[in-house]
Amino acid sequence: MKGLVLYECGKTEIRELERPVCGDRDIIIKVESAAICGGDVHFYNGTLDLGNYPIIMGHEFAGIIAEMGVNADKYWKVGDRVVSENTYSVCGRCPSCEKGNFVNCENRRTMGCDENGAFTQYVRVPGELLEVYKNCLFRLPDSIPTEYAPLLEPAANAYMAVVQEGRLMPGENVVIFGAGALGLYSAQIASVSGAANIIVVGMESDKETRFPCARKLGATHTIVNREELKLAEEVKKICGVSGAALVIDAAGPPAVLKQAVGLVRNDGTIVRIGMNDRPFDQGMNVINVKSIDIKGHMGYNTTSWRNVMNLAACGKLDLGTMVTHRLPLTRIQEGFDLLKDSSAIKILIDPDQ
Ligand SMILES: [Zn+2]
Ligand SMILES: [Zn+2]
Repeated sequence: MKGLVLYECGKTEIRELERPVCGDRDIIIKVESAAICGGDVHFYNGTLDLGNYPIIMGHEFAGIIAEMGVNADKYWKVGDRVVSENTYSVCGRCPSCEKGNFVNCENRRTMGCDENGAFTQYVRVPGELLEVYKNCLFRLPDSIPTEYAPLLEPAANAYMAVVQEGRLMPGENVVIFGAGALGLYSAQIASVSGAANIIVVGMESDKETRFPCARKLGATHTIVNREELKLAEEVKKICGVSGAALVIDAAGPPAVLKQAVGLVRNDGTIVRIGMNDRPFDQGMNVINVKSIDIKGHMGYNTTSWRNVMNLAACGKLDLGTMVTHRLPLTRIQEGFDLLKDSSAIKILIDPDQ
């Protein structure tokens, strides 16, 4: 089989690889569709160092169960269409595992980061994992095409941020920083959840592709975050006395968190999805004075997955509008180049070409 291998920080190539061997409790998934994530772009460009090479990249994927060990969980069948939430292993014992927040397990290993991932044709799901974490795979409802199913992963992320962490109530106003996939799925989840004003704040380069997409998915306003623009005033004009109850930071830079703290209403919530390791060097008393919750976000849990799958299955969540490109695996590197500017949003990969 072929796979995209990250063999050094920021260095990748398509290699011919051995198909994984199915242990007696394992499941082998034939990958039918995968998607490139913003995190993958960091690994590809070398802006994040995995420190663990060589590795097959890719963690957003769906496919068909191709092979099962003789002692694998009989809940699953060869031929099942499934989507993976990309966990490779968890301890099952830590406080996060105990709560079912397997993504936060301090011993979690992830496909495409710590272990081989999905920019290839076959992926092994270890039997040990399937026993501890039964919802690490989901059988796809008939109405969700396998091709689009990898997009359930970023959608589940956004669901966790907006609904489970952000505790959005119908009628509240939301500001979303960042018009990448997570920002756009957050706008859509906010819309499905009954938010009043949904304001997506992005960059000049988002105007052409990403802002129109945001509006299609439910954003009521799109604003370019220019330095001279007094964003808090602009938000006040739109939201009036109710203000912004929830701010989703799907961008990451400290300057954005500063803006978020400034414009969220008193008693409001900020959920930080975006990553950026520069220090936050502002005074922090405002967090007490305004009684703000700032919630660090990582991933999703089974509830997030179950609910986004239900929304997608009944047509209330649009998975496909964000797909701007489809590429064969052999040309996946072009996909990473396309993601360097804002003309691409989500890129689907066909592993068989
Ligand atoms: Zn992802
Ligand atoms: Zn654990």
